[in-house]
Amino acid sequence: MPHTSYPSSYYAASANPVPARPELQGEVETDVCVIGAGYTGLSTALFLLENGFKVTVLEAAKVGFGASGRNGGQIVNSYSRDIDVIERTVGAKQAKLLGDMAFEGGRIIRERIAKYNIQCDLKDGGVFAALSAKQMGHLESQKKLWERFGHTQLELMDAKRIREVVGTDSYVGGMLDMSGGHIHPLNLALGEAAAVESLGGVIHEQSPAVKIDRGANPVVHTPKGRVKAKFIVVAGNAYLGGLVPELASKSMPCGTQVITTEPLSADLAKSLLPTDYCVEDCNYLLDYYRLTGDNRLIFGGGVVYGARDPSNIEAIIRPKMLKVFPQLKDVKIDFAWTGNFLLTLSRLPQVGRIGDNIYYSQGCSGHGVTYTHLAGKLLAEVLRGQAERFDAFATLPHYPFPGGRMFQVPFSAIGAWYYTMRDKLGI
Ligand SMILES: Cc1cc2nc3c(=O)[nH]c(=O)nc-3n(C[C@H](O)[C@H](O)[C@H](O)COP(=O)(O)OP(=O)(O)OC[C@H]3O[C@@H](n4cnc5c(N)ncnc54)[C@H](O)[C@@H]3O)c2cc1C
Repeated sequence: MPHTSYPSSYYAASANPVPARPELQGEVETDVCVIGAGYTGLSTALFLLENGFKVTVLEAAKVGFGASGRNGGQIVNSYSRDIDVIERTVGAKQAKLLGDMAFEGGRIIRERIAKYNIQCDLKDGGVFAALSAKQMGHLESQKKLWERFGHTQLELMDAKRIREVVGTDSYVGGMLDMSGGHIHPLNLALGEAAAVESLGGVIHEQSPAVKIDRGANPVVHTPKGRVKAKFIVVAGNAYLGGLVPELASKSMPCGTQVITTEPLSADLAKSLLPTDYCVEDCNYLLDYYRLTGDNRLIFGGGVVYGARDPSNIEAIIRPKMLKVFPQLKDVKIDFAWTGNFLLTLSRLPQVGRIGDNIYYSQGCSGHGVTYTHLAGKLLAEVLRGQAERFDAFATLPHYPFPGGRMFQVPFSAIGAWYYTMRDKLGI
């Protein structure tokens, strides 16, 4: 596999300095071998190290190379599926456990930032923006639903109130979550990696896991080395490829694209987002945006099923940005990139065990900044023998994509067409 570097994103261009992390050479022994240095892998490693485990992390490219270093940076609590749908599928008891955990990821991120002094431009406040009365009605019922699970911090906004926090006439209202917010996602991952190393964890970059010998004493192979471990945690998500075939068959990588403007004047930036909250709209194929620490607008949207890289990202995303903020028509785009998230049919994460000693979490289907931090905690809990919260996720049903990977793209493209029409018609 060729050595792989970051895409030319705003995040890579503004990353905090990092140490060299050499490729794995030869054989090492550890308690837990984590495959993948995104938030899932890093959060798992950090919780394990804090609990006395010896941990080796293998990263195919660089820390935060995947979605964790490319995303919109929005701390969006809860899951990509509403808790009442979960409740109908799995029953009240399990839904209660999941509902109780739905805002924990945002708290974990803030604890990490404070405890390890991570410099990643943290700002509080996330807005869900409604484009229609129907979407507003959905937000109202969501608020009631979350209050049932004790999450009472959400504030509904009418058209006048949302206009105070987003400088556009696009929305009929919205909902504000002050436990949401935004971060520089790559710098969060890099800070977490430094925290892992400060506790004695080892991270090897440019070290893809290419084979796993399963069994009582599992071994993970890389091109130039191998790791003998008591446990393996698979955290490769949309970038895992076919290393673990049973995970590939029930999920699909999808691309989503992000652009970043040149730095805006303080006045222009303030006129777009006066309170510096991040925003996502309520469409199924949603737009999301926020300001960076140096007053650029980061705007994301669009989904490419099957994770092929679109040729002209700016041409896809800029019109979406101008629809919300026509006042940016003369502003230059400095960066444009794509990244992959992992879609599951239920849009719920897939969590579980393979045999006695391989564990995984993947597929948060779009919203994963908070969930992946929670996943790390749950994976560490189960390895310490506390399975209740892990099992609340592990017992959610997993569905294979019909027809396997070959048919996944057309299948989901039909789904995307359906949801795009639904968004356009406001139904
Ligand atoms: C463009 C974009 C925007 C997004 N915006 C948001 C947002 O604003 N808010 C939100 O909540 N969510 C967002 N998401 C989703 C969120 O970023 C992801 O859910 C989350 O980062 C997934 O983290 P992860 O650690 O599971 O996977 P990743 O971050 O993808 O990490 C997986 C890592 O595993 C490595 N790897 C894979 N295979 C191997 C192997 N064989 N050996 C060794 N290493 C391997 C990869 O190189 C990669 O570094 C966005 C996603 C994208 C792509």
